[in-house]
Amino acid sequence: MYDYDLMVIGSGPGGQKAAIAAAKLGKRVAVADRGNMMGGVCVNTGTIPSKTLREAVLYLTGFSQREMYGASYRVKSEITIGDLLARTQHVIGREVEIVRNQLMRNHVDILTGTARFTDPHTVVVEGTGRGDHNTVTAEKFVIATGTRPARPDVVQFDGERVVDSDQVLQLTRVPGSMVVVGAGVIGIEYASMFAALGTKVTVVEKRPQMLDFCDPEVVESLKFHLRDQAVTFRFSEEVSSVEVTDIGTITNLASGKRIPAETVMYSAGRQGQTEALDLENAGLTADNRGRIAVDGHYRSSVEHIYAVGDVIGFPALASTSMDQGRLAAYHAFGEPARELRELQPIGIYTIPEISFCGRTEEELTSETVPYEVGLSRYRELARGAIVGDSYGMLKLIVSTADRTLLGVHVFGTNATDLVHIGQAIMGCGGTVDYLVDTVLNYPTLSEAYKVAALDVSNKVRAVEAFQHRQSTLAAPPSVAGPASNGSGISEPVPDPVSEPAAGD
Ligand SMILES: Cc1cc2nc3c(=O)[nH]c(=O)nc-3n(C[C@H](O)[C@H](O)[C@H](O)COP(=O)(O)OP(=O)(O)OC[C@H]3O[C@@H](n4cnc5c(N)ncnc54)[C@H](O)[C@@H]3O)c2cc1C
Repeated sequence: MYDYDLMVIGSGPGGQKAAIAAAKLGKRVAVADRGNMMGGVCVNTGTIPSKTLREAVLYLTGFSQREMYGASYRVKSEITIGDLLARTQHVIGREVEIVRNQLMRNHVDILTGTARFTDPHTVVVEGTGRGDHNTVTAEKFVIATGTRPARPDVVQFDGERVVDSDQVLQLTRVPGSMVVVGAGVIGIEYASMFAALGTKVTVVEKRPQMLDFCDPEVVESLKFHLRDQAVTFRFSEEVSSVEVTDIGTITNLASGKRIPAETVMYSAGRQGQTEALDLENAGLTADNRGRIAVDGHYRSSVEHIYAVGDVIGFPALASTSMDQGRLAAYHAFGEPARELRELQPIGIYTIPEISFCGRTEEELTSETVPYEVGLSRYRELARGAIVGDSYGMLKLIVSTADRTLLGVHVFGTNATDLVHIGQAIMGCGGTVDYLVDTVLNYPTLSEAYKVAALDVSNKVRAVEAFQHRQSTLAAPPSVAGPASNGSGISEPVPDPVSEPAAGD
């Protein structure tokens, strides 16, 4: 008899949801995590603090109100790191309480400390206090230990002038200038937040472009906005070293350029947290990036040990980790469950934000799938004017073969929420006609869907009208065909593209 039916290692989104799902099935469950990390990377150093920081930046800088009240509008003129972190700490505290409470009310035991395997069914959980040492056996395990920032050997991180994306939350002041190394999602989110705070940001990225999985038009818009806030991009450049003195840093690039800045933030990928687990004692291994391989049911090569969340790699999002945890627990205890839908949204919380779901134009073009695009710009929406967003846009990609929605790409205010409307329609196999024929609240940003849908419909209709005319001209002359007015002079075909898109 084991101590527990399920032992979960790591209390981030994947671990929490695995524990709660198993507890709801009536299983005896324990979760182990380090004392100061309840809720995982997600709550303590990743998703929640970064998104709260963003909200604090938006509010205190008055950034989103400047179109209304002018470029000098501020809620607070001198924004200190204390102002920013007060909100972050408050939200982290609340979220930790929520996670702890959810686990406790589902009778999940919380073991504080670092867990390591001593054999395939036994872990030791060691805390920092004397005698803080538990040996626990379990029938099944879920490893949800997440990742930590990867740190290149050539760079000395001091937590003050040279920081990684965890340490950025411990800065003691808002830097006047900053080099961000790595233009991935985390790097570019922080770059945009510091730029909004007035920090002079230089982004260094070894690839020739950034966010290449997103719609290129949207990425161009983001770059335009960031440049407008004095962000400099250095693409196809590699950092060779970072020099630090008491007055600041110099980032040396392989091309010979030298960039001075108060602070350097590295955001160069993440590494699976598996070193402390002593996986070999459980008969498991991790790859060179610390990741554990799993099958479609999140089961590792050892049958009773599952792994979920960032430690298994792509897509490494809190949103997916939660469902992976739930599904792993269901599979472990034979509870029937459906697989996750393939259609998943991506949200990038830059300022302004980006979100998309489904296919990109580039993908469809390379697969020779015919499509048409409908565009709506926030500046033409009443709600866009009300919230002061003139740059936002929503793009629909629609199949010209059957009018189904293939992709939705949003840039601007509320993009990460708005995307779900398109996702729901796509998930149900819906067509653009649903949006054309549906009344939406007015004035809202959701109205962008209606405008973009009418835009696509008009373009598709133009092609159809052309085809119709071609087939009428090819047909043998009739006495009085539909395009004839009886005088032998053809009626002009209306130009559907120039029809108003919506609202007028
Ligand atoms: C800056 C940043 C911003 C992000 N923004 C978003 C976002 O906007 N949206 C989104 O969906 N995702 C976002 N993510 C990703 C998201 O945070 C992760 O996908 C998510 O936290 C992964 O969950 P997880 O279950 O793998 O566990 P994690 O949250 O990674 O937590 C793992 C836990 O395991 C614990 N642990 C590790 N080893 C041991 C051990 N041996 N014993 C005991 N405990 C151990 C750790 O202490 C930690 O608490 C962001 C990440 C970062 C870094």
